[in-house]
Amino acid sequence: MLFLKITEAGGIMKIGKQKTIALIAHDNRKKDLVEWVKRRKEVLSRHFLCGTGTTAALITKETDLPVRAYKSGPLGGDQQIGALIAEGKVDFMIFFWDPLTAQPHDPDVKALLRIAVLYDIPVAMNQCTADFLITSPLMEEEYENNVLTYKSRIEKW
Ligand code: PGA
Repeated sequence: MLFLKITEAGGIMKIGKQKTIALIAHDNRKKDLVEWVKRRKEVLSRHFLCGTGTTAALITKETDLPVRAYKSGPLGGDQQIGALIAEGKVDFMIFFWDPLTAQPHDPDVKALLRIAVLYDIPVAMNQCTADFLITSPLMEEEYENNVLTYKSRIEKW
């Protein structure tokens, strides 16, 4: 994803046809994510995949898909993925977080979700949404997304 231009309303970034998809799951949701990836392997194999350490390693082991591994989530992996989104290097995220268990890195999880919303990237947090996203015709197209910029915030004052 690249920054194209800054407009009055915000910044326009572009998600290419071939997307960089981050795959993340909390421990109680890893099995569900691995099963989902197996079902969607054909589509996913046409994109670049990355993820937090344990999730990435597990998906590669179970599906043979290449998944670039960053640090484990509680050790800073969520922050790394967030930074990549801010740099336009991750433009799609599947994040099965656990709604029933408090995480030691809850602030990092919240920060990652905030950055994903800010940079207007597609995010699925459960299987149903992931299925709707991955079957979208936009998976095979370029897409211009709208990013709220600091510039537009300043101009309001
Ligand atoms: P993990 O991290 O893939 O290293 O388990 C996921 C997370 O807890 O954010």
